[in-house]
Amino acid sequence: MSRVWVLGAGQLGAMLKHAAQPLAVDLVAVDIEDDSHLDLATDDIITAEREQWPATQATDQLAAHDNFVNRDIFGLVADRVTQKQLLDRLHLPTAPWQLVASGQSAVGLHAAYGARVLLKQRSGGFDGRGQLWLQQDKGTVIPDGWHNKVIAEQAIGFDEEVSVVGVRNRAGECYFYPLALNHHQDGILAVTIAPLARLQHLQNKAETMLASIMDDLDYVGVMAMECFRVGDDLLINELAPRVHNSGHWTQAGASISQFEYHVRAIADLPLGPAVVKQQSIMVNLIGVDYNHKWLAIPGAEVFWYGKEVRPARKVGHINFAMGDRQQLLNSLQCLQSTLGEWYTPAMGWALQELAQ
Ligand code: ATP
Ligand code: MG
Repeated sequence: MSRVWVLGAGQLGAMLKHAAQPLAVDLVAVDIEDDSHLDLATDDIITAEREQWPATQATDQLAAHDNFVNRDIFGLVADRVTQKQLLDRLHLPTAPWQLVASGQSAVGLHAAYGARVLLKQRSGGFDGRGQLWLQQDKGTVIPDGWHNKVIAEQAIGFDEEVSVVGVRNRAGECYFYPLALNHHQDGILAVTIAPLARLQHLQNKAETMLASIMDDLDYVGVMAMECFRVGDDLLINELAPRVHNSGHWTQAGASISQFEYHVRAIADLPLGPAVVKQQSIMVNLIGVDYNHKWLAIPGAEVFWYGKEVRPARKVGHINFAMGDRQQLLNSLQCLQSTLGEWYTPAMGWALQELAQ
């Protein structure tokens, strides 16, 4: 069988490789700094774990390959302007927005969107980085050099944040995981819970929205759609044309993980419906040192990315998929006792959600 190459060798590339192995798919993740010449065959398949990459000999070779799946979609989604234009064109609800064009002022943006306006870098931002709240009462101004590089979004007073992860193959067949509930802290995803019976009534709506995007783009592979839930409405926050952090729970909680689905789709292997096994929760390890105590917690499935630990950096995650609710709560309390103060709101939120 042909080889699959992944543009990017971060944790997502590593987890794709991990998922490819039992499928007997030979998958090689290529570091974006790699400047070597790659030995690509014409029938090899190329995918990416990220939306952008610097030009090197290796990345240029991969990006130019005829079998680079979704080639034109990465750039489209990586720029918030073209991503938002896509949503508008498909009449999909999203936070009202505009490009911050030359000459635009904070006053003009407050007139359009109200007292709080969020500036977001058009590309390259993640984990809430590259964003700035313009606050009318504080007189925040648009920083120098930001014009034409950011979009402005209306502040959404959402009830909570949810996401749906789906997969589509070349024939247009789609499957979706149940909506996941996400808790962000300081703009970083801290905890994901799925599935939740109380979100079930929104499942069809979420699937229809994501399917319309994937169909329009003739997309192949896994895509994630982050949403704000406002009552029974879903507003799309952003899309990820790849496996996504809010889908990591599927490694423990579903018969086919999002990583395996992505490999199956791009290698054109049968997809089949993923069966959800148990109540699942994923806790991101953010700026914390590895702790062997995690391995002793019942049900804990630890993924450590082997990256240097820095504040606010995702360095691993822990999945739990457990049928016994009390055991799950006990394990989460155990985990919380190994984590610092920063986790108190996120873990408190998770314990409360799961105790219901
Ligand atoms: P990611 O880590 O998902 O790549 P990101 O840095 O690309 O994040 P967003 O997902 O756009 O950025 O925003 C990060 C978080 O900021 C959101 O999850 C949400 O909590 C908050 N946020 C974003 N846009 C809005 C908005 N229009 N109104 C209110 N809150 C928002
Ligand atoms: Mg986001």
